[in-house]
Formats: sequence, structure tokens, C-alpha cells
Amino acid sequence: MSRYTGAVCKQCRREGKKLFLKGDRCYTGKCALERRSYAPGQHGQGRKKTSEYGTQLRTKQQARRYYGVQESQFHKYFLMAEKMEGMTGENLLKLCESRLDNVVYLLGWANSRQQARQLVTHGHFKVNGRKCDIPSYLLKAGDTISIKEKSVDTNGFKVILEANGSRTVPTWLSKDNTTAKVVNLPDREQIAAPVEEHYIVEFYSK
Ligand code: SF4
Repeated sequence: MSRYTGAVCKQCRREGKKLFLKGDRCYTGKCALERRSYAPGQHGQGRKKTSEYGTQLRTKQQARRYYGVQESQFHKYFLMAEKMEGMTGENLLKLCESRLDNVVYLLGWANSRQQARQLVTHGHFKVNGRKCDIPSYLLKAGDTISIKEKSVDTNGFKVILEANGSRTVPTWLSKDNTTAKVVNLPDREQIAAPVEEHYIVEFYSK
């Protein structure tokens, strides 16, 4: 399945939930969901009937959209999460959270996860001192991430770093200007994803 390239805000409107896909705009009155809090399309304002399966499917889609992960990759994460110790749902979110593009966003080095993905693909970051241009790269505790020296000096990065300088970095990461470290992988309380992950587990366990 190809990557979604339509209007970003339609994804939140479809899910009826803020997925924070557009950075700062999501926290302002310009948020499309606040102005039109119904699903897009001709029948968007019609009657809503949600079955158990529907809730499970929608929760899975919300998580996928939140992290910008395609179905095949997301299902792969679920299979990995099942094999890990602990709760499958929490493990699944941990895996998504430890993606390089997600961490770049959390560090304030991109305005949105979508932009983080693009910046990673364009080779602006290093992991443990080596260039890494794979957005899905899974970071581990102890890994260091940095913005490439050449990239830091570009106007684009200066604007991004200035705009996001005050963003609160989660406690499982530590940041010192343009370098950062994964202190440990996050617990569920440290993950802000607005989903009830047990529905995702139920969805894939059928
Ligand atoms: Fe979603 Fe952000 Fe668009 Fe609001 S502004 S609908 S939270 S992507």
C-alpha cells in the first residue's frame, strides 16, 4: 500500500481525534478538527454506529497515522511486540516511539513527524556518529543522535531549532543542543500517543 499523500488534517477528522500531525498549528484555533469536527466527505456528518471491530480498527489506524507508519510495517511491529517480554500493546508503542523519525520530532529537530521523516531521509542526522537516513531505524538505550555539522548551519535548520527550542523533551531522552541520547526506552506513561493500545492487540489477535 502506498503512503498517504492527501490532506493531513483529513486523517484527524476521519478518526475524530487530534493526532497532532502538523506541529504547532495543532495547538491553535486553526486546527481543522476544531473548526470542522466531523469526518470528511459527503457522509461525514451522518449517523455514526461503532461496532467492537470498528473501534479496534479505528484505534489501529489512529496509531498508524500518529506515527506515520504503513500497515505492513505496523503489523511487523506487532509481531515483534508479541515476542518481547511484557505487555504486547505497550511494546508495540515502545517500538513506534523508538523510531528515528519519531525521536527527531520529540527532540524538537523537526516541526512534525512527517517533516522529521523527510529530514532523516535527506541524511541530516547521525546515529552513534554515523550517518543514518532510515526513518524506521529503531533506537536503543544508550544510542546517541546528532544533527550533522553541515546541516546545523543551514537556514532551514536554524528556523526549525529556533521555533522548537522551548519544546519539552521527554525524560527518556536527554538533549544538549544538537546532540542527544536515548537514556532508556519509554514506559507507557512517557508515551503521549492518544490511543488505547489494547484495542490494537485485540484487532490483530482475531
Ligand atoms: Fe490534526 Fe493538527 Fe490538523 Fe488539527 S491541525 S486536524 S490536530 S493535523
